[in-house]
Amino acid sequence: MKIRILLLSAVLLSTVLAHSQITKWEDKFKQLGPELATPNEQRTASGAPGHAYWQQQADYNMKIRLDDNLQRVSGEEIITYHNNSPDVLYYLWLQLDQNNMAKNSDAYAIEQSKIGDRMSLNDIVDLEPWFDGGFKLEEVKDASGKDLKYTVNQTMMRIDLETPLKAGAVYTFKIKWWYNINDRIRLGGRSGYEYFEEDKNYLYTIAQFYPRMVVYTDYAGWQHKQFLGGGEFTLDFGNYTVAITVPSDHIIGSTGVLQNPKDVLTADQMKRFEKAKSSNEPVIICTQDEAINREKTKSTSEKTWIFKAENVRDFAFATSRKFIWDAQAVDVGGKKPLAMSFYPKEGNPLWEQYSTRAVAHTLRVYSKHTVDYPYPVAISVHSKWIGMEYPMICFNGGRPEADGTYSENTKVGMISVIIHEVGHNFFPMIINSDERQWTWMDEGLNTFVQYLAEKEFDPNYPTRRGPARNIVDYMKGDKTKMSPIMTNSESIYQFGNNAYGKPATALNILRETIMGRELFDYAFKEYARRWAFKHPTPEDFYRTMEDASGVDLDWFWRGWFYGTEHCDMNLKEVKLYKWNTRNPEVENAFKKELKDAQPADISLQRDRAEGMVTQMDVDKDIVDFYTTYDPFKVTMLDVKDYEEYVKRLTEDEKKMINSDRYYYQVTVENVGGLIMPLIFEFEFADGTRRRFKIPAEIWKMSEPSVTKVFALDREATSIALDPQLETADVELNNNFWPARIIPTKFELFKQGQQRPEENPMQRAKRN
Ligand SMILES: [Zn+2]
Repeated sequence: MKIRILLLSAVLLSTVLAHSQITKWEDKFKQLGPELATPNEQRTASGAPGHAYWQQQADYNMKIRLDDNLQRVSGEEIITYHNNSPDVLYYLWLQLDQNNMAKNSDAYAIEQSKIGDRMSLNDIVDLEPWFDGGFKLEEVKDASGKDLKYTVNQTMMRIDLETPLKAGAVYTFKIKWWYNINDRIRLGGRSGYEYFEEDKNYLYTIAQFYPRMVVYTDYAGWQHKQFLGGGEFTLDFGNYTVAITVPSDHIIGSTGVLQNPKDVLTADQMKRFEKAKSSNEPVIICTQDEAINREKTKSTSEKTWIFKAENVRDFAFATSRKFIWDAQAVDVGGKKPLAMSFYPKEGNPLWEQYSTRAVAHTLRVYSKHTVDYPYPVAISVHSKWIGMEYPMICFNGGRPEADGTYSENTKVGMISVIIHEVGHNFFPMIINSDERQWTWMDEGLNTFVQYLAEKEFDPNYPTRRGPARNIVDYMKGDKTKMSPIMTNSESIYQFGNNAYGKPATALNILRETIMGRELFDYAFKEYARRWAFKHPTPEDFYRTMEDASGVDLDWFWRGWFYGTEHCDMNLKEVKLYKWNTRNPEVENAFKKELKDAQPADISLQRDRAEGMVTQMDVDKDIVDFYTTYDPFKVTMLDVKDYEEYVKRLTEDEKKMINSDRYYYQVTVENVGGLIMPLIFEFEFADGTRRRFKIPAEIWKMSEPSVTKVFALDREATSIALDPQLETADVELNNNFWPARIIPTKFELFKQGQQRPEENPMQRAKRN
């Protein structure tokens, strides 16, 4: 028994050490050194691509067919790989991400599992994988049709080259494959189908559906992280031509520009499509009535839609006979990309009103803060319970009730997910970071700009992530279940807060509180400009933000990105000082006032009350000079001494001691350990306030508390630390002098009184 207890505590201890990152006080202002990669010819010390920067290119020419009866997708692809690296490659690696849905997938094997009282099909698939979802490879051949030697390792495949691929050389090869599409609602996944029981139709959102080149970089070589479902994707740019064959009554939304609209659209739809290209508001291209008709036809013939996309890092599409389609033009940097939406009737009325408008708004705001949107289209597709991004296209949830009403949460959630997923066009589809390694580099940066876009959509937008106060509950939570932001995508505790909420908040704090908008916005835009259509790493971001703003932020990256400490500043002590003028008229009166203000000694009070007779009352012989001496009484001699003293002072010194200044000496203790600036607000009797912002460098001597004096011309009635809640201070009770009580209400709980769930639109109808 004893051994068991010992073992348990040892495990607990190692957990604490492994995850919480507490920086030693003496290291908090140390420049980042070993944490960052050494600058080189590919990546400079200022955070820009170096003079020898290179990246690979992979072009795809694909014929894809979707089987709507068997829910299968099959394809033939020709990959043209450009080895722009200075290295000779002896083999090529490809990603077979669909293999994470194969029965023998490591994604299932490594899933921790427990039996619960209620188990869903999704829970069971982890216990006994029954869905056969992996790639079936039919052919892997070179350009001349000769079989290539290949080895599959879970979600990756190595192709061995007969002749090594030299630096600067191009290699073309072919792969033929198919796989079963997963029911996304039952089995989960970032790609798959949603089945609609009522009209017996499918809505497919198809992604990572073809064998794709693994990225080969200067900083990691071949990216060798398997797809386990959590960490997303790392891909090179290239040009795509994709022909997609689907039932002839399907409508396709896809990455790229439709090359043959006349083959697949009716004359009316063509007319509406043309109209949309110059319209500033959404134009419906395929109507709801047309969609309802198509739901019934279930055509057995097929049509092929051809799409072309240039300089994209991936390709995805959605197809269904249920799609309604609308589009509008958006003015961005002298171009007019099309914002478009594809949704089933189940998405209305929300989708017709908001989706395309949200896409257009996102392109405008993100272009302002990063780079002009460079692609010709941006598409939002609706399917249930999803938010997933690809170049030019994303799949989004947010569905009203069957009666057409919806909660405010549904509406806000839908608009937020559209802004977020369309925003991913910028991070990571254009500013192409390694998602498999660092979730925060796309999710965190994207969630930050999403916050700016939400505020610009509606000033009262109920934003979830961005404002400092919203991260407080996470920051003060259990440190053993917290990872630094700089943690690999698969190993992150509290994924949403860590990789979305915390980095977005950190950037907002940099912008509003630490750097200021002007310096921050310039540097952030510079990062986007430098790394658009390239592969940035974390150090490229950190270095660019410092390089373009002239602000040393190593302490900030260290605290917010490499650590797990929180901000808790304790306004520990406040002392008020005034000048001693040495004027006896003033100072003696002040001393007397202080003395009189003191309560009489408790024993003396009681002795008097009891009528105690003292020796002084009865023996006149013990009286002398001091019996009646008044130390506060001002004498002629005192006045003369003072006049002598004043004579010796300079004019400036005289002015100073007679200035009637109030000196507040304030001590703040850094309880949380995170380095942050200090913002003090003094309030005066007339209700006016004065604010002092002290930069974070006040903590540079690495002591857990600091003392600072503020000279005021008036007496303050109160002092508040972080009055506008901009530092994510987790404990407000110790932020005020004098102390303030923050009231909380609690309510009576009566069992059995819950009403059935009803959204406010439904309640308004009942009223
Ligand atoms: Zn995201």
